[in-house]
Amino acid sequence: MTKSTDAQSVKSYFARAYGRSPDRIWAAPGRVNLLGDHTDYNGGLALPFALAQRAYVALGWREDTAVHLNSAGFEPWAGTLDHIGPGMPASWAQYAAGTAWALGITRGFDAAILSDVPLSAGLSSSAAIGCAMGGALANPETVGERHNVVNACVRAENQVAGAPTGGMDQTASMFAAAGHALLIDFGRDSMMHVPLDLSPRGLAILIINTRVTHALADGQYGRRRAECQEAARQLGVTALAQATPEDAERLDGILARRTRHVTTETERVRTAVGLLNAGTPEKLGPVLLASHTSLRDDYEVSCPELDTAVEAAMEAGALGARMTGGGFGGSALALIREADRPAITEAIRIAFARHGFTAPEMFTAVPSQSAERISL
Ligand code: ADP
Ligand code: MG
Repeated sequence: MTKSTDAQSVKSYFARAYGRSPDRIWAAPGRVNLLGDHTDYNGGLALPFALAQRAYVALGWREDTAVHLNSAGFEPWAGTLDHIGPGMPASWAQYAAGTAWALGITRGFDAAILSDVPLSAGLSSSAAIGCAMGGALANPETVGERHNVVNACVRAENQVAGAPTGGMDQTASMFAAAGHALLIDFGRDSMMHVPLDLSPRGLAILIINTRVTHALADGQYGRRRAECQEAARQLGVTALAQATPEDAERLDGILARRTRHVTTETERVRTAVGLLNAGTPEKLGPVLLASHTSLRDDYEVSCPELDTAVEAAMEAGALGARMTGGGFGGSALALIREADRPAITEAIRIAFARHGFTAPEMFTAVPSQSAERISL
């Protein structure tokens, strides 16, 4: 996918919509999770990186408390600060304006939004919008102020949009670094940049957006969280990632499988970080594939489209592949040698067509910088 959005176009979009120049522009990226899924709410480890694809928000303050939002491809939204918050009618403005509520903004504003992060593809278009809006509204300059934006975006998603997000997406969007993955330890509430040098080694991360979202996703997400809580209770730990894979065998059936996923996934992130710090990303393949198997068989959040993407990529020579994100649709990723790209993308296209699936969207994920202010 080529970049279709930039600061200049959002500036003109703002000028067309509001007949003046914006006061500020911020951009914030979507993210892909390299490894560590369903670990965030279990106090475990995750390893996302920021995408080049990002949301741009151009913002202009108003003298009253009105709020006007324009986002290309969405119905314009207009209201006042009083209309924004928990209980507001469901719309995309819950994400874009919810951040203003969570930040306690008291002055009205006009905003224009352009984003090239694929929607609902497990690449966090919602955090991109939330963080770009949070950046434009709060203009964070310190690490602490960036944390405030992360927390505001999470509150907006949880309390205004009603989406039970765990904070990985917003943390990646606000704190990632180009050429690096971001190790997030949800148990210790800490993070660290880990080098992810792919292109100099002839490697790439291919994203395969299946373009499907299976309806069962929401209820299943809540069920997994409840199962993990019950497993943690039975094992006497406050968060399931504190248990070990051996502990899993003390539990019955489903709870054993869920625990096995969470504990082995956390170990896989540790292994991956070791490989990346040693400068050997080409060795990540088996770890990625083991993660997919664990998510498919133990956590049971994959789906035929994701399995097909992973199997076709592996058969065509990928070093490793896995579903990424919450599951039941969205995207898979594959670690490939750049030279094998044509064969691998073709194999995936053919496999999807053979199953009668919608053609997937495929592009290279380039580990990119976090949210930033754009000079006007
Ligand atoms: P994901 O974050 O994985 O892409 P979500 O369901 O969490 O999927 O968020 C998607 C929602 O975020 C969209 O339905 C919309 O409400 C909001 N959103 C994302 N991108 C935009 C955009 N460019 N303009 C307006 N709203 C957006
Ligand atoms: Mg989201």
